[in-house]
Amino acid sequence: RSDNLLRSGVKNSSKKLTMRYQRSSTLFKEAQQVIPGGVNSPVRAFKSVGGTPIFVEKAKGAYLYDVDGNSYLDYISSWGPMILGHAFAPVIEAVKERADRGTSFGIPTELETEIARLALQMIPNMDKIRFVNSGTEACMSAVRLARGATQREKIIKFKGCYHGHSDAFLIQAGSGAVTFGSPSSPGVTAGTAKDTLLADYNNLTEVEQLFQEYPEEIAAIIVEPVAGNMGCIPPAEGFLEGLRALCDQYTSLLIFDEVMTGFRLAKGGAQELLGVKADIVTYGKVLGGGLPVGAFAAKKEIMKHLAPEGPVYQAGTLSGNPLAMAAGLAMLQALDADPQIYTRLAEKTERLELGLNTVLENKGIPYQINRLGSMISLHFTEQPVIDFETAAKGDNERFNSYFHGMLNEGIYLPPSAFESYFLNDALSLEDIDQTIDSFQKVAQKL
Ligand code: PMP
Repeated sequence: RSDNLLRSGVKNSSKKLTMRYQRSSTLFKEAQQVIPGGVNSPVRAFKSVGGTPIFVEKAKGAYLYDVDGNSYLDYISSWGPMILGHAFAPVIEAVKERADRGTSFGIPTELETEIARLALQMIPNMDKIRFVNSGTEACMSAVRLARGATQREKIIKFKGCYHGHSDAFLIQAGSGAVTFGSPSSPGVTAGTAKDTLLADYNNLTEVEQLFQEYPEEIAAIIVEPVAGNMGCIPPAEGFLEGLRALCDQYTSLLIFDEVMTGFRLAKGGAQELLGVKADIVTYGKVLGGGLPVGAFAAKKEIMKHLAPEGPVYQAGTLSGNPLAMAAGLAMLQALDADPQIYTRLAEKTERLELGLNTVLENKGIPYQINRLGSMISLHFTEQPVIDFETAAKGDNERFNSYFHGMLNEGIYLPPSAFESYFLNDALSLEDIDQTIDSFQKVAQKL
């Protein structure tokens, strides 16, 4: 009898869930007919957590509203950009005002100089910045610039770091080796893979070995100064300083991929927060205020190699697009004007961390929480998460229950354990407490 009751309970609750996401589910089926996998970027498809992605109707402040009329507290903030919350009024106003004057010219505007000036004033150590349309483009161009400037061909990247989907970065380790990588996606040629050398994140010894093996061939190291693509993994003490020293010793360039950390961890990103200087830095996400923007910045001596000043080619029909620049400028002005924002964000994220800690400790579930500033992630594993291998040890089944449990409670978390959360300033302390209350309920079933 109790079994029957239990079964009918499960049936009822899964029926309720189907109803809850009914319109999203229909839209997803329609999308799959005309868009590969129904999405324009893979992680949105919920493949790793299962189930149907929600379709968003609109968002405001800390909240997302889906097409079925459900609302969610949003912990991904469009994967970073919406650091001040959704539909942030100054950004929306700036875009509307610009749109009336035309949306693209392919001819310079004063706005581009204005945002470049402000960005360079906010970030340390850089003389010039070039705007592109995405983080992928920024990283791809930064590596080309580094290769052109050094006249060397190889780069070092770290396993589990993501720098966009250009060929040179879609490389993972071949059978435990830390020498040549093999492509991690069909379509990337072996020829490309041979110039991408791999090391484990937070492992300086491996990087040193690569330099000893190829002392005059490495153009650059590219690294997420705080990794956000295997969950959040802060750099170990001395790791970034060690990379800096090795680059100086072997006259290679150090590229910080600050697409996630730029304008998020501090005004001047990880360079400022962690006090290590890179030679080229890439940006995206927050810099565009929610419109498609990327950028790379460097000192004059490096940037002089870039076309039209120098021979390293890079271009874009919509680069510096006026709507995107207007949104980005309004965003940077708001961040620049509020010195407390980063402290506030870090405090909110710490409150979330402490709340999660308490619930998990009480339940006795093995876990790791990594956090730096407003980037945080939870891994269901006993061992400290310091690189890709340790991140991959997390209990996926438990993560999936956690994700769906929270979603049903109206909390939108990243639909993969390999992603960092990004908090936004529109989240109130009450919102965070409500999130912890929801987690308390969800944790009962984990
Ligand atoms: N670098 C990092 C560190 C990223 O996290 C991402 C995207 N998540 C990219 C580059 C690529 O940026 P985009 O998706 O804008 O091409």
